[in-house]
Amino acid sequence: MSGIVYLVGAGPGDPGLMTRRSLELIAGADAILYDRLIPAQALEDARPDAELRYVGKQPGAAALSQDATNELLVELGRAGKRVVRLKGGDPFVFGRGGEEAEALAAAGVPFEVVPGVTAGVAAPAYAGIPVTHRDAASAVAFVTGHEDPQKPETALDWDALARFPGTLVLYMGIKKLPLIAERLTAAGRDPDEAAAVVERGTHPGQRTVVDTLAGIAARTELAGMRPPAITVVGPVARLHDTIAWLERRPLHGEVVAVTRARAQASGLARQLRELGAEAVETPAIRIEPRPLAGELLTAVQRIGDYALVCLTSPNGVRLLFDALAETGQDARALAGATLAAIGPGTAAELERRGVRADVLPDRFVAEALVEVLESVDVQGRRALVARAAEARSVLPDALRSRGAEVDDVALYETVAEPLGAAERADLERATYVTFTSSSTVRLLLESGARPPDGARVASIGPVTSATAEEHGLTVHVEAERHDVVGLVDALTADAAQRRVSA
Ligand code: SAH
Repeated sequence: MSGIVYLVGAGPGDPGLMTRRSLELIAGADAILYDRLIPAQALEDARPDAELRYVGKQPGAAALSQDATNELLVELGRAGKRVVRLKGGDPFVFGRGGEEAEALAAAGVPFEVVPGVTAGVAAPAYAGIPVTHRDAASAVAFVTGHEDPQKPETALDWDALARFPGTLVLYMGIKKLPLIAERLTAAGRDPDEAAAVVERGTHPGQRTVVDTLAGIAARTELAGMRPPAITVVGPVARLHDTIAWLERRPLHGEVVAVTRARAQASGLARQLRELGAEAVETPAIRIEPRPLAGELLTAVQRIGDYALVCLTSPNGVRLLFDALAETGQDARALAGATLAAIGPGTAAELERRGVRADVLPDRFVAEALVEVLESVDVQGRRALVARAAEARSVLPDALRSRGAEVDDVALYETVAEPLGAAERADLERATYVTFTSSSTVRLLLESGARPPDGARVASIGPVTSATAEEHGLTVHVEAERHDVVGLVDALTADAAQRRVSA
């Protein structure tokens, strides 16, 4: 069987800008040869048995020469493999994809080219700079400043670039900027023309500076801009001032650590990202289901006997339904009971299974659930509280004091999930560390990790805050509404306030 090589663009960094075709090919590849500037999550869906190989340049040195890369592609293709050659941006825009395609064509190895979103268009777009504009630019030139560093003179025709009637988009190392700006103005480009530099375009920490062509190098240096960066020369660069959008998001520039279990992290992480934050998952805990045996098994088998069933987390709902299924039951087993959910996340998880909660408090702590349950007559009736092993006893105690016969059973236990090296490094960069339960606080600190100095601690509610303070943390932000939405709101308000006072 003959193999095939796919020359695939992975886009400029935002994983959302990867094409469907690229994701499909990555998921099916036998081997993936990738470069440095691909999105961090790009290889997540690769097959576990796929051969992953980094062939990009290390700053200063090449990991593998271009000839060696070409040969490797040919070799793998001939060996019958499905090979993805994954590159940042577009493979044919300063990506040496042309040379690789030539080598494959010469060797008679079948190949396909999958274009990507190029940084020269995407980084300006994310900075609010359209590379063409009806009034300001009818042409655009893509230019590389990455000429052979050994050559004193680059191969660029500076006179032609100075005269070019449109936007110049420069892909290059930022160190070359003073030289390039000087060459352009020396060749006659207007020193007062606008110019912009976009650092880490489309990434959560993207930064942009705008100045004149004469001033852009100094401005870039002053701001401490680092590669990768795109430089735009042309009047369109000024539009950053009016139509920048990414950098104006309320949490832009913030790195927010999410300490809750990985299985629960995505909702919170997504909301934070939509507001512009870089959300990093640093899970301190993991949910460990209790075996379906003993009093848990008895409670599930006799679930129809309870007049009241209380659920205190989305995990609890999920595991209770798993247990129902394992005992040959389904949602109908809950038909006779009054169902109480502690908050909207728990209620939503029930609703997803076709069951609506009868009782839902407006604050999402056990005490509030106790209050609203006052309206339910529990005297002499059986109640089930199904929840985490380590949960507080507020709810069962209150129900018992009102004459209910309460079974308090643990569906799961929250156990420590020690952070790996990459997660520790992410935690160190955090500007906010979020805690969504006491167990996340306790288990993170017990594992030896801590919010870094200077990071702000954001807690979902008073119980979590108290645990954090007992452990010597200062809580800077506490949600008024004790759920994920409330936490995100409080964090956003805090960030806005700090921006005003800064
Ligand atoms: N094939 C790529 C370009 C490779 S050349 C593409 O089509 O985008 C590498 C240069 O691209 C970097 O030096 C930098 O100038 C630019 N670049 C790549 N990713 C970038 C990003 N996210 N933000 C800004 N510039 C980027």
